[in-house]
Amino acid sequence: MEIIIADYSGFCGGVRRSVDLANKAIEENEISYSVGPLIHNPQLVSKLEGEGLKVFSKEEAEGIKNSTVLIRAHGESAKFKDKLIENGNELLDATCPVLMNIYKKIVEKEKEGYKVVIVGDKTHPEIIAMESFLNDGIIISDETEAKNIKGNGKLYVVSQTTNRLDYFYDIANKLKDNNDSVVIENTICKATENRQQAAKSLAKEVDCMIVAGGFNSSNTNKLYQVAGMYCKNVFRIETVKDLPLQKLSKFKKVGIIAGASTPDEIIEEVVSSMDEFTKEEFMNSLEDSLKK
Ligand code: SF4
Repeated sequence: MEIIIADYSGFCGGVRRSVDLANKAIEENEISYSVGPLIHNPQLVSKLEGEGLKVFSKEEAEGIKNSTVLIRAHGESAKFKDKLIENGNELLDATCPVLMNIYKKIVEKEKEGYKVVIVGDKTHPEIIAMESFLNDGIIISDETEAKNIKGNGKLYVVSQTTNRLDYFYDIANKLKDNNDSVVIENTICKATENRQQAAKSLAKEVDCMIVAGGFNSSNTNKLYQVAGMYCKNVFRIETVKDLPLQKLSKFKKVGIIAGASTPDEIIEEVVSSMDEFTKEEFMNSLEDSLKK
């Protein structure tokens, strides 16, 4: 079996920065807190908890006082951050700079008189934080919702950073049906685009794809969708424990891609487990043929 790892796999710049900040917080403070999971990878979050980071829900975090509080890569609302500061906390803001840039753009456009429309998952922390910077933003996640937005003067449309390009443009273009002026700004981040492009190229080339990353990771789930468009056999795993080794044994060329929040250790474990399995399979088949 030939195993090929996609060109872009594992941590993006924003995730790496947030993990570095978490390590700094753990090193420098007796207790430090993260509001919600730092990134969408349960294994890494558990590891950081084991090293001393306390992960609190937003409600619990309201009670944190005079401590160091880490803001996750997906960001938080300005109001919530102000509240933490009022309580005497020092913030280590791991909000991805890509998101900071989007906040700036949408706030400017709203001031210029645009109605800002965000194409994304209403329940995702990135989108909840993004919308909080607007006075009157709209979040939509499908074409039907886009069709229902009518008669607005000027619309400025942005995307969740992890969306698929085709999904974003299909929905954003629908807004043109019932609104006079629609400015579409592709805010899908470069790291996402590179990984989706890599998933597409590799999926075309192999018999089977493995997509690794937290089951709660939006960007990893999108890679799974992209891989599924170009390859018939795609397996979604979180860790090496989910690898369907027996099913994989029938494939000659297997591609592996990991989401932007997947630690290198997980990718390495997956590759070495497959290597090991391939060697065992080879030895077993050699033994069988020698017996004949
Ligand atoms: S996927 Fe993009 S937006 Fe999200 S943390 Fe990484 S670089 Fe930032």
